[in-house]
Amino acid sequence: MKVLVAIKRVVDPNIKVRVKADGTGVETANVKMAMNPFCEIAVEQAVRMKEAGIVTEIVVVAVGITQSTETLRTALAMGADRGILVEVAGEVQPLAVAKVLKAIVDKEKPGLVITGKQAIDDDCNQTGQMLSALLGWPQAAFISKLEIAGDHADITREVDGGLEKISIKLPAVVTADLRLNEPRYVTLPNIMKAKKKPLEVLKPDALGVDVAARLTTLKVEEPPKRGAGVKVADVAELVSKLKNEAKVI
Ligand code: AMP
Repeated sequence: MKVLVAIKRVVDPNIKVRVKADGTGVETANVKMAMNPFCEIAVEQAVRMKEAGIVTEIVVVAVGITQSTETLRTALAMGADRGILVEVAGEVQPLAVAKVLKAIVDKEKPGLVITGKQAIDDDCNQTGQMLSALLGWPQAAFISKLEIAGDHADITREVDGGLEKISIKLPAVVTADLRLNEPRYVTLPNIMKAKKKPLEVLKPDALGVDVAARLTTLKVEEPPKRGAGVKVADVAELVSKLKNEAKVI
């Protein structure tokens, strides 16, 4: 079975995100970028399935600027076989990404698509679901366990207050949650090997996809600063403050 994994280049999660002075978005110039953490989990899942002999080929796809090839190379160093960059200048919204991914799926015909549950920059949590709707394929979002059983996938999903077990027919789209696995670190020899793996660059036009934005960002601003805390002498003072000042009890 061939697996397609969608990966996004985002601001490194260890970096403090700064809002642009004009409020049009977040600063990405001269900022360390990395693979979206949920996409790393998606790649790791595919690599483990290949190591287990269930998957024959892993194709990783990124939609974004030229530098997204670095993110694809990281996925290739983790164990993916082939990369595709669909080159788009500037921001791409989830619907456009889903349309691009659909065009790639039509070409590549994978048995399974894995995306992250959400990108930590836009927090949209939409792309996988939109892709499954465009393809007319079953979907399982927020997965924490995946087992292939013939033409089905047995899945555990993270839901409010517990876990849900479902079985979905393949081909399908799944989105990776935090507890699915712990991604491996890439090793230097694998980084070197990844340089020789195939990486194709396409334009959305070549796929017949219009990636124009459908949503307009009105304004991006920093969350309000938290006020300083106060030290209380004892429980009685804490209770009094919660009752009379914060009025929460
Ligand atoms: P989102 O819907 O933006 O929260 O993203 C959810 C998941 O969709 C991500 O974890 C990726 O797997 C995939 N995705 C979103 N944007 C892109 C992109 N520009 N290129 C490739 N995959 C993406």
